[in-house]
Amino acid sequence: MIRIAIVGLGKIARDQHLPALAANPDYELVAVASRNAQLDDVAHYPSLSALLEDGSAIDAVSLCAPAAVRYEQAREALAAGKHVMLEKPPGATLSEVDALARQAEAAGLSLFATWHSRYAQGVQPAREWLEAKRIQAVRIEWKEDVRVWHPGQAWIWEPGGMGVFDPGINALSIVTAILPRPFFLKEATLQVPGNCQTPVAAQLAFVDSAGVPIAADFDFLQTGPQTWDIHVDTDAGRLTLSKGGSELYLDGQLTHQGPDREYAGLYARFAELVAQNRSDVDVAPLRHVADAFLYGRRETVAEFHE
Ligand code: NAP
Repeated sequence: MIRIAIVGLGKIARDQHLPALAANPDYELVAVASRNAQLDDVAHYPSLSALLEDGSAIDAVSLCAPAAVRYEQAREALAAGKHVMLEKPPGATLSEVDALARQAEAAGLSLFATWHSRYAQGVQPAREWLEAKRIQAVRIEWKEDVRVWHPGQAWIWEPGGMGVFDPGINALSIVTAILPRPFFLKEATLQVPGNCQTPVAAQLAFVDSAGVPIAADFDFLQTGPQTWDIHVDTDAGRLTLSKGGSELYLDGQLTHQGPDREYAGLYARFAELVAQNRSDVDVAPLRHVADAFLYGRRETVAEFHE
């Protein structure tokens, strides 16, 4: 039994973490640390520091606040001897995630940088199907309405909030898991609203080590039907992961779908890591986002208002 505390009780904690914890007998939710929100029948603290100072009997924390505060919270929890699960993205910078991985290793604690989309139903079978195919081209379309999915989340437009890369990094977490070769950025354009620090749209052109082109189109202003699709053209036909990876199509035929088990999968994996005192920290998706910010052209576009 892992005694765990949720830190940052907001949208994703309520939508996904609480139900996943409630359904998993390996965990007991013993505390919530959140400045403004609390849960009936669970000990509440206004901050992680207050929780740790109180000496509560917890084994692990699950950090669900925005990435800008991830490092400080994770550093503090590891220093107090707690295992740490990080929401995506694992940090605001690559260097701070590296520092956390070293800290966890030195302390013999588990650090898990989660990528929930990798646990979508179609992702593992897609990876297996692609293993023996010759890949010709990859196209990612990740287009959603920020006003629907992130209402009032001002942090998304601040440094570290990533803008359209907040959802876009989910697509990158899938392609870095299913494609057999490393790939890297050749060109990117980032559209940044005049009153924001992060992009509202982005077009990315990558190439893999065998020269295969990988194009990504991210948009945060898509109204109507929402699009979270990845198309992979191969010598054996087209593979499509749709609806964020939850549906897999081979040449237009649906072959895999099922109930949403992404966060159930994450908590099962974290329990495994804690039991074995191991960490799982893959920064590949965050590195691609960092490259886009490093190498992309910026265009200033119309201001964004809720
Ligand atoms: P959110 O609801 O805006 O934030 C979560 C909670 O974090 C807030 O309710 C707030 O609780 C706390 N928080 C916010 N800013 C803080 C700060 N500066 N210092 C300390 N605590 C702070 O955001 P969210 O949608 O849950 O997203 C949180 C993380 O989960 C992000 O990294 C996001 O990328 C990831 N994620 C989100 C989704 C989604 O669909 N929303 C899906 C997957 C992953 P208090 O005010 O009570 O402290």
